[in-house]
Amino acid sequence: MQKTYRATYKRGKEILDHYHSITKIRDGELKLGELPIVMARRVIFYNLWSSIEKLVGKAAHSIVLSMGKPQGISFAENLEKYIGHEKKDLDTAMDFLCNETYAIGWGAVEIELRDTDIEVRCEEGFPVGKEYVLINKVSSIPVDSFFLGYFHGFFETYFKERYTSEEVMCVGMGDRMCKFLFKKI
Ligand SMILES: [Zn+2]
Repeated sequence: MQKTYRATYKRGKEILDHYHSITKIRDGELKLGELPIVMARRVIFYNLWSSIEKLVGKAAHSIVLSMGKPQGISFAENLEKYIGHEKKDLDTAMDFLCNETYAIGWGAVEIELRDTDIEVRCEEGFPVGKEYVLINKVSSIPVDSFFLGYFHGFFETYFKERYTSEEVMCVGMGDRMCKFLFKKI
């Protein structure tokens, strides 16, 4: 089996428009439906990554990965709520995952499901890698661990399988795209 899902402008915009329609300033907070949120600049992810890397070096990967993972787990657990109906079949879920990440500014993601592994690609690069490109800085290690962790948590929860995860290409290292690889354990 091999199947590829892609973010599209149309679907990404539909989700963004829906989020706009349910985002309100209420009780001194900004809320997406009932969920308190903050609007964040992309560079915050870069600052977070580079501050931790400066402190602990390569161990930054595990720390930042473990920050992203619970987000992906909780997104997979609450998928019906986000999709807006009971339909949680594979195509709907993967399509939504690609387009929701696009709608919130993480990049136009492509997901390829294969028999024993999953590849997630972002041609323009994930947010931290993109910031490296923007400031002409080249990292010796991949930098999008938060986003890797997010997809890792999502896939393990949705497919009820264990995976290894690795960012095998990263625009932050000078590669032409960011590419995540998840191998079934
Ligand atoms: Zn990257």
